[in-house]
Amino acid sequence: MASILEQEIKFLPGVGPKRAAILAQELKINTVAELIYYFPYKYIDRTKFYKIREINETLPFIQIKGVINTLEIIGEGRAQRMVANFYDGENQMELVWFRGIKFVKSTLKKNFLYVIFGKPTEFNGKWKLVHPEIEEATEVAEKKEGYIQPYYNTSEKMKSNFLVSKTIQKFQFTALQLCKDKITETLPPWLIGQLNLVPIETALFNIHFPVDPQTLRKAEYRLKFEELFYIQLKLLHLKHERQNKFKGQIFKEVGSHFNDFFYHHLPFELTGAQKRVVKEIRKDTLAGKQMNRLLQGDVGSGKTMVALMISLIAMDNGFQSCMMAPTEILAQQHYQSVVRLIGDLPVNVKLLTGSTKKSERLIIHQQLLDGTLHLLIGTHALLEDIVEFKNLGMVVIDEQHRFGVMQRAKMWRKNYLPPHILVMTATPIPRTLAMTVYGDLDVSVIDELPPGRKPIRTFHYYDNHRIELNNFIRKEIALGRQIYVVFPLIKESEKLDFKNLEEGFEQLRIAFPSPQYNISMVHGKMKPAAKEAEMQRFKNGETQILVATTVIEVGVDVPNASVMVIESTERFGLSQLHQLRGRVGRGADQSYCILMSSVKLSHESRQRIETMVATNDGFEIAEADMRLRGPGDLEGTQQSGLAFDLRISNLAKDGQILQYARDKAEEILAKDPFLQNNENNILIQQLLALRKNHLNWGAIS
Ligand code: ADP
Ligand code: MG
Repeated sequence: MASILEQEIKFLPGVGPKRAAILAQELKINTVAELIYYFPYKYIDRTKFYKIREINETLPFIQIKGVINTLEIIGEGRAQRMVANFYDGENQMELVWFRGIKFVKSTLKKNFLYVIFGKPTEFNGKWKLVHPEIEEATEVAEKKEGYIQPYYNTSEKMKSNFLVSKTIQKFQFTALQLCKDKITETLPPWLIGQLNLVPIETALFNIHFPVDPQTLRKAEYRLKFEELFYIQLKLLHLKHERQNKFKGQIFKEVGSHFNDFFYHHLPFELTGAQKRVVKEIRKDTLAGKQMNRLLQGDVGSGKTMVALMISLIAMDNGFQSCMMAPTEILAQQHYQSVVRLIGDLPVNVKLLTGSTKKSERLIIHQQLLDGTLHLLIGTHALLEDIVEFKNLGMVVIDEQHRFGVMQRAKMWRKNYLPPHILVMTATPIPRTLAMTVYGDLDVSVIDELPPGRKPIRTFHYYDNHRIELNNFIRKEIALGRQIYVVFPLIKESEKLDFKNLEEGFEQLRIAFPSPQYNISMVHGKMKPAAKEAEMQRFKNGETQILVATTVIEVGVDVPNASVMVIESTERFGLSQLHQLRGRVGRGADQSYCILMSSVKLSHESRQRIETMVATNDGFEIAEADMRLRGPGDLEGTQQSGLAFDLRISNLAKDGQILQYARDKAEEILAKDPFLQNNENNILIQQLLALRKNHLNWGAIS
């Protein structure tokens, strides 16, 4: 028998087919369970009553008991409004309505005790309440002491159909009454006991109808823990399953290729972090299990070096490797630096991209099959079915977030036993997010830059300080350095942005006239060849200034460029700004990042700029970004498979609960890897139910 929870929402008393359709469309609520799991987004304490004389600007909401003395409509046309004089027994204040005037007029009674509620605004030194919530005092009195009112998100369409927060609250009440004693527990009793959690039914009731702040906190904790716990359990369980299913290639030896490179070709001392990461990967490749590892490291931290060393170890063990990058420029850059690093070592490295000539392609395909090609570097071209290896042992994927999950999976199938996979990213992801998005991967971090790099100094200039900016640029050019100037260009405002770019270019040409100065310009609308040529001119030092849109974000490595000027900084996201800044500071010179902005800045833009000025640390910036924007908008989360919506937890705020939930999940799986113990019965059932709901999730790794 279908339980009450699975019942369609239209059968819930008071809902009906029309509102059910709106709920389905606007909130994806189709069943009673989905309604109950639609949680309030905020609560307001309605326990305290104020007096008009107590109102001040620090109170976000006030609730006052009193009577309406007068009620009149004033003004004409659009200025028309309804004004009531509200008296609390001591003082008077105005209540104002601009809309729904007829309705207000027909329902409000004079000299009748009401409770009003709302956010006070000050006007000409007087406090008013615009569009207050208003209820008869007797209704409010019926509510228990300590009443906390839940607020549910509703859409415009819902509001215009009288489906407001209060209506949802009523539905919740009906639903919860019907479900009384019928909601089965979703966590094992031993875990509930151990963590002192409230039962699921209590939690669900109290999340909608908390009687006091403490019951609310307990309900929230239970539901947040459960939500995060099951995500972690699912990811870790998958990981166990996968590790059990697939044996990994074993790289037993460290042989001549690696040793020759390490002792005779390494142009610098490895950083401690690089050594540590190589060891971590080494351990994985000896364990007989397939490695799936995420390597996070800021721009310039030397990830390519790590990838190369691992590839050499693969080669020492008779395996081929490949490195995949998201753009042609990046693939070329990897190829060039690898070729430079290996020098005269007997390693056959080739580059395969969309523009590789057919004759060269044929050679590559042949050499891959006969095993004489050791390391293939390239773009998406590597994914094509025709690219077959003799014995692929190691896959390195750079800038993972630019590739889809399916592409990662595709690489797996390039060998009978899946190769080890190392995913590299320079977009640091806050720990909490990494645990969720990449929760089934092991994570390594390079948290140390090569020595000798001077930290980039970052300044914020307002647009009216252009003369100072130009003087600074001139000084740096006189020292032989090169300058990037980056303009925003986004699709929605492409025309305007493009105009800004061209105007900016013209202004720079006036301020930096030829023949003394030469300026390059690159943008996304140029043909690849033309773009490439302009970049090359800058790289060769023929031009001193490169004016660009964000096409250079993941791109050229020009160690001599020491200044990054970012125009209209307020329009860039934090992680983008950080990536752009990472283009400089690659040589030994002191580098600078100048953030230009208009004088008028929103609070959030100002915070972004302040964060950039305050720190060079990519992880700190990622954390700040998550706080400012929320986890859903972070670069790297959309495509990377955050395939679930969090109903109640917030990754930016609930990091501690998340960590705890993950530890618990690990602990349980360590004791009972396949969740076969009776006491974990509920866990496996919940996991199976979750898998059914998120079919795609299984394909993530
Ligand atoms: P990432 O890919 O992490 O952004 P790269 O691998 O491109 O960084 O390295 C950036 C630069 O630093 C390269 O020129 C590289 O040769 C150099 N580099 C890497 N490791 C070291 C090191 N341990 N000491 C000095 N320079 C290094
Ligand atoms: Mg790199």
